[in-house]
Amino acid sequence: MAIVSIRGLTKKFTDAAAVDDLHLEIADGEFVSLLGPSGCGKTTTLRLIAGFLQPDAGEICVGGGVISSPSHLVPPERRNMSMIFQSYAVWPHMTVAQNVAYGLKFKKLTKQQIDAKVTKLLGVVHLSELKDRYSSELSGGQQQRVALARALVVEPQILLMDEPLSNLDANLREEMRFEIRRLHEEFGITTVYVTHDQSEAMATSDRIAVLDRGQIVQVGRPAEIFDRPKTRFVAEFVGKANILSGRLDGGSRMQIAERLEIGVMPNPDLASTTGEAAICLRPHNIVLTAVQSEAETLARQDYNVFSGVVQRRIYFGESADYTIDLAPHPFTLRVVGSPSKLYDKGQRIFALARPEHCVVVSNH
Ligand code: ADP
Ligand code: MG
Repeated sequence: MAIVSIRGLTKKFTDAAAVDDLHLEIADGEFVSLLGPSGCGKTTTLRLIAGFLQPDAGEICVGGGVISSPSHLVPPERRNMSMIFQSYAVWPHMTVAQNVAYGLKFKKLTKQQIDAKVTKLLGVVHLSELKDRYSSELSGGQQQRVALARALVVEPQILLMDEPLSNLDANLREEMRFEIRRLHEEFGITTVYVTHDQSEAMATSDRIAVLDRGQIVQVGRPAEIFDRPKTRFVAEFVGKANILSGRLDGGSRMQIAERLEIGVMPNPDLASTTGEAAICLRPHNIVLTAVQSEAETLARQDYNVFSGVVQRRIYFGESADYTIDLAPHPFTLRVVGSPSKLYDKGQRIFALARPEHCVVVSNH
């Protein structure tokens, strides 16, 4: 059952809409990320859900009741939601325990009840030992844990997070992604998480909604978004992609250059199965070989065969990153290959890809 229903949500600050006819259904207990580049309307959408902003059109419902519309606005403090910001917003003059207890001040609880809840939450976020420290004496990661504990201690129906990890350094950011997912699995609170970082969205979310210019362009499980992008924008924003333009033949083949036709994975969402489109081919889905007979064997198994020359190789330890020049065809391919078999710059090579990895995407 959808606990949050967003229908036709629109917010304009100027003539251009920051959020433009946005639709999204979020199930009870689900963790959904809003993923997109800076300025695409993520924060505005979150502030609309929180009730800090009122929509110009559309509505937001929780559990069937309207909480936001152009004519009706339930105030933020009556929404039973917690919000976590990029800036942590913990009180520097309070201890860790006082910060976490702060949200409970307005609930009718005894001191013992408050202490019990705070103690439990500090244990959950691994801060028990630091409970009497002032938060000004904490690292960024610890402050973010305080913010998480403070948001969770009030047992909100919905948790909203706006780029909560962007002020942390890279290692900590990775650790905190797992932490946020762990807490979600422990508490099961319906969560809307805003980020411009695709790995963060993939590590934390049940579903990802990709935003572009105030609209959701695709929503799905992380693997669907990555393996079956519907548009060129989604393919390029989520992960590395080779995008090759071409003409569809009405079936599962596409002409991508003169005398170069390949088998592709059709896209059921395209309006037409003929005409201009593109494919997304992920660099790790390409197989390299310098041996012609191997390439021919794979070609008989329906692999698409590209023949080219290694233009550049970068060794990363766990992988090797190549650019393959496909001249005389007017394009190159990025390939992520195994470090156990390296090819040299200038070497003639075959790059092979299965049709189901050549995913048709719309051209925008
Ligand atoms: P994101 O969080 O995805 O980076 P925002 O939701 O903050 O994007 O902003 C979406 C668009 O709305 C941007 O073009 C931004 O400049 C504009 N915008 C956001 N808040 C305001 C505001 N208070 N006044 C005017 N324009 C705003
Ligand atoms: Mg933002």
